[in-house]
Amino acid sequence: MNEPHEKNIFQKIIDREVPADIVYEDDKTLAFMDVAPVLPGHVLVIPKQDVESIFDADAETFAALMETVRKLAPAIRDAVGAKGVNINSNHGEAAGQEVMRLHFHVIPRHDRSELKFWPHTTIPQAELQAIAEKIRNQLAN
Ligand code: 5GP
Repeated sequence: MNEPHEKNIFQKIIDREVPADIVYEDDKTLAFMDVAPVLPGHVLVIPKQDVESIFDADAETFAALMETVRKLAPAIRDAVGAKGVNINSNHGEAAGQEVMRLHFHVIPRHDRSELKFWPHTTIPQAELQAIAEKIRNQLAN
């Protein structure tokens, strides 16, 4: 038998069982301040549907989530006098996802030196092309 399903922290926020500084809500999505912001103004956007990651999100849920991100990005930027935003989302433990409930981070940015991002690598052209071929094959399945 499965263990009883422990309610996810973000579900508790939706259900108002855990407090959060909510900035936006509609019938499909909710947005609230990250409790441990990467930078001031860091907001999390989640679907109300209980979806773990992009891998099990349906198109409608994902589209609603993206529309809320699109709507909030300029409001978040302007609220803190920033010049841009980073939109980030981790899917799966290997990718750094800690809360197993689909979410997007919207992080306002004032200048490039605030945060360091992934270092790029170089890859042989043949390897790059072989991976591209594998992705195309996956999509064709
Ligand atoms: P992940 O690493 O899964 O992409 O991001 C999870 C995010 O959720 C983190 O940025 C973390 O600070 C935030 N977080 C975790 N627990 C809570 C909470 O109880 N309330 C709020 N507002 N944010 C949380």
